[in-house]
Amino acid sequence: MGWEAIRKRNAGAVRPNLADYEQARATFSWDAARSQLSGLPGGGLNIAHEAVDRHAAGPLREKVALRCRDRGGHVTELTYDGLRVATNRFANVLRELGVGKGDRVATLLGRVPELYVTAVGTVKNTSVYAPLFSAFGPEPVRERLRLGDVRVLVTTPQLYRKRVEQRRDSLPALEHVLVIGDEPAPPGTRSFTEAMASAREDFTIPPTSPDDMALLHFTSGTTGKPKGAVHVHGAVLAHHVTAAFALDLHVDDVYWCTADPGWVTGTSYGIFAPLTHGVTMIVDASDFDAHGWYEVLQDERVTVWYTAPTALRMLMRSGSELPKRYDLAALRFVASVGEPLNPEVVVWGQEALGLPVHDNWWQTETGAIMISNYAAEDIRPGSMGRPMPGVEAGIVTSEGGRVVEVRDPEAVGELALRPGWPSMFRGYLHDDARYAKSFVDGWYLTGDLARRDPDGYYWFVGRADDVIKSAGHLVGPFEVESVLMEHPCVAEVGVIGKPDPLVGEVVKAFVTLRADSEPTEQLRTELIAFGRKRLGAVAPKEITFDQHLPHTRSGKVMRRLLKARELGLPEGDTSTLEVRG
Ligand code: ATP
Ligand code: MG
Repeated sequence: MGWEAIRKRNAGAVRPNLADYEQARATFSWDAARSQLSGLPGGGLNIAHEAVDRHAAGPLREKVALRCRDRGGHVTELTYDGLRVATNRFANVLRELGVGKGDRVATLLGRVPELYVTAVGTVKNTSVYAPLFSAFGPEPVRERLRLGDVRVLVTTPQLYRKRVEQRRDSLPALEHVLVIGDEPAPPGTRSFTEAMASAREDFTIPPTSPDDMALLHFTSGTTGKPKGAVHVHGAVLAHHVTAAFALDLHVDDVYWCTADPGWVTGTSYGIFAPLTHGVTMIVDASDFDAHGWYEVLQDERVTVWYTAPTALRMLMRSGSELPKRYDLAALRFVASVGEPLNPEVVVWGQEALGLPVHDNWWQTETGAIMISNYAAEDIRPGSMGRPMPGVEAGIVTSEGGRVVEVRDPEAVGELALRPGWPSMFRGYLHDDARYAKSFVDGWYLTGDLARRDPDGYYWFVGRADDVIKSAGHLVGPFEVESVLMEHPCVAEVGVIGKPDPLVGEVVKAFVTLRADSEPTEQLRTELIAFGRKRLGAVAPKEITFDQHLPHTRSGKVMRRLLKARELGLPEGDTSTLEVRG
């Protein structure tokens, strides 16, 4: 198929009918949406039943639920019924260990089939699933296992020896470690495979209420120490509904989510939401590589792809010609989350993939997508989109000691949500005070600054902590970063405010160049002039070239670290910092 033909085909396929969509939106209520779930046979709601068991009892029984590609390209498939049986067995393993309702089960694993079995099996047993990044060092692992009172850990023998063994004594709650693979289990651990083999195949899900705790997610630690956000079984309603509206997921989709399974996106949209829709999910264990990623899209005939700005920027760095060497005709919808998506990337997507990239916004705390560019609507490049059906958002400010909504369309304020959506977090673990502080005068305060245009689209300005005050102007790093990204030599940017006695703070940019650009003095001068022309007074005064901006493992530029390094201050909590080899 020629490139133009693909583009036309995709353009046709991607847009559901706008009128239908508006209708669905206008009549939406969470209560009514509940009928899209099946519920437990005896009443109650359990995520595992919605994600797996109900499909295994119907026409999707033999359909492939998971296609896991390991680093060597070897594929393991699990059907919905296969996943039902495997997760039954794992739930029985937990039961035999005396691990029950509310007990925490963590994974320290890459993208392997056992991770998915553990996640679903754990919530099936009404225990609580807590994913950890497999690349965490020993201290971040220990801290989270301790904070989460984790009783069971599923990991590999190698990771156990490197990250857990020496600190095991300081983790009295950690009673059981199950290690995957064929290697003999290290002392103090048990073989996952053997435990599974001797476990029974049948399991009846215990009574589960929508308010029972199901998941424990640690935030990305972009702004400081990660917090443990508590989520409940009822969240699955939001997972399901938002995946339909914001990712346009349908049962016949082949879906690929590139988020690390250690992060909330890797669970909400990397495990549960897609399974509730009965799709075939692609899991790829390899690290980022532009050729490799295009190959996955092509070979697996991925139709819906959920990824992150930093990954898209890396693809952009490798050029617009590369994707044209692959057949991406199956791909019909691309979405992104985690960080602001620069308009330049949306435009690049249109040109290089023949598809726009749909940005959406949410947080670990919100449990599911809250604001999104919809398939049926025109994208506004640079905007996060509009609130999901059933979600009421607002821009608020503090006035006379009260939090009030800002009605002025262009005014910048804190992005806030009306509490009550089903996937709202129910606590920060061991930090009730902080949880209570997030809810003020009928709003949940997100800590992000944004504005809303007259059509109701939300525009991200920056995290409240990252916003720069320069000579009386309020500068959002995102705006400055997006402008610099328009320069053809620039691949990625992190912007900070640097204290200055005269103007308060000056804007400083750290710039990663595209593959074919050289970091010369001339280019630096050119970039400063380029910024000044577009941004005026809030343009960066200083630019440093940096090919390795610090990122969190969930792919966010860590601006606070850039700032600490610049000012020679302590780096603070760097447990989620990604170390690139
Ligand atoms: P921590 O709370 O530990 O500092 P974090 O806020 O990065 O870390 P997450 O919950 O993973 O942890 O990320 C949510 C945040 O990511 C949002 O509050 C917002 O700042 C940013 N974010 C997510 N999606 C978008 C988006 N589409 N546009 C802009 N920012 C986004
Ligand atoms: Mg946060």
